[in-house]
Amino acid sequence: MKITFHGAARTVTGSQHLLEVNDCQVLLECGLYQGRRGDTYERSHNFPFDPAKLDAVILSHAHIDHSGNLPNLVKCGYNGPIYTTSATAHLANIMLMDSAHVQEVDTEYINKKNARRGLPPVEPLYTVADAALVAQHFAPIDYDEPFEVVAGAMVTLVDAGHILGSAAIVMDIEENVKCAQRKKRLWFSGDIGRRDLPLLRDPVLPRQADWMIMECTYGDKPHSDPREAVNELRDVVNRTVKRGGKVIIPAFAVGRTQDLIYDLHLLMDSGQIPSVPVIVDSPLAVNASDIYRAHPECFDEETQKFIAQDKHRAILGFDMLTFTRTVEESKALNGRRDPMIIISAAGMAENGRIRHHIINNIENPANTILIVSWQAPETLGRRLAERDKRVTIFGESYEVRAEVATIGGLSAHAGQDLLVEYACATQATLKEIYLVHGEPIPAQMLTEKLVEKGLRQVAYPDLHQTVEI
Ligand SMILES: [Zn+2]
Repeated sequence: MKITFHGAARTVTGSQHLLEVNDCQVLLECGLYQGRRGDTYERSHNFPFDPAKLDAVILSHAHIDHSGNLPNLVKCGYNGPIYTTSATAHLANIMLMDSAHVQEVDTEYINKKNARRGLPPVEPLYTVADAALVAQHFAPIDYDEPFEVVAGAMVTLVDAGHILGSAAIVMDIEENVKCAQRKKRLWFSGDIGRRDLPLLRDPVLPRQADWMIMECTYGDKPHSDPREAVNELRDVVNRTVKRGGKVIIPAFAVGRTQDLIYDLHLLMDSGQIPSVPVIVDSPLAVNASDIYRAHPECFDEETQKFIAQDKHRAILGFDMLTFTRTVEESKALNGRRDPMIIISAAGMAENGRIRHHIINNIENPANTILIVSWQAPETLGRRLAERDKRVTIFGESYEVRAEVATIGGLSAHAGQDLLVEYACATQATLKEIYLVHGEPIPAQMLTEKLVEKGLRQVAYPDLHQTVEI
């Protein structure tokens, strides 16, 4: 069998790994590479293999860095199934449509500017019409139900505990090598979640794998306890409400928003924070929350119990919670002076409605802007997290007079300690581990830890590198 690492190799975006087994080709993930516009366009349109010749695609979860180039794969001739959990298929559908919409709006804006400068127009990465064609390819698979993906390769999806529907992909392969049959297991981690995250079951640790492809996003550091992060959230809300202010939270619409809703519900129910309105202002987050509610089979035991005890209230729905769908509802929030919590996208405050909420609240010291995830360099979220005194939004400069608070422990990715435990769980049988989906420093630091623990064969493959196993 051959594996070629066509994406998320020595970086964290554009996940894409090609397997060649028994004369068949299987693609694990088809993520969007996120870099400079020109590079992104080139890499997203020029596949280093022929999409029409693929036999199957398997998707670990719906995040755009894992699913976001599926519209181009289909456009370039892929006509087979995309195997994934049913929850991932539903989430990926709305995320791809949203991603396409963002591409179209961005392109329109750039083309207006280009026209003024006499420059030629650019094309969107893909359109809403392209994204809509992906839906018919999804072939939903239940967790822990082995299925034959191509001749001689059985696949099982197991819980990854990262976002709703997320899975590790376990491949049991019978290869015909020189008339002899070999049975081997390849374990692809997808993105690994964490223990004790709200709503979701914990990640399943690998068993008896011969080879592993493992993410290493946070290979350089352990995370703080998620329960400690909830205490920090409680304190931020309490002191802001005491000042009569609003808490403004930029959050990713899928995953982080639902975790926050659940945490705030529990804090309010137990009287640890006062009953103030919680408003989720992002159309994608509203749709994603509906999908979360439609997939209770993905919830952990604690959440199942919570639902059973509290049947009259829906999960991700409580008295103080409002979802806004229209722009008018969103704008109406500006006029309100009462303390409230507003959760809105995008997660790094680079686009979406959150920018309007920041503009309207940043110059009032009673308010808090709460940063709850890693912020990429050059984003508005990063400038706020780094405590810049002034920020520019839509070309206007604003003084940062609101409190800016950051909570680090809410990440949905495994930290270094769990990554080490994950890799070592199958140490007795593991022949080689390939680290992907991580920058060089985290990968290097994780490699050192793994070698210390006795794992000898740790590789950090280059982009387009092929290994034969
Ligand atoms: Zn992810």
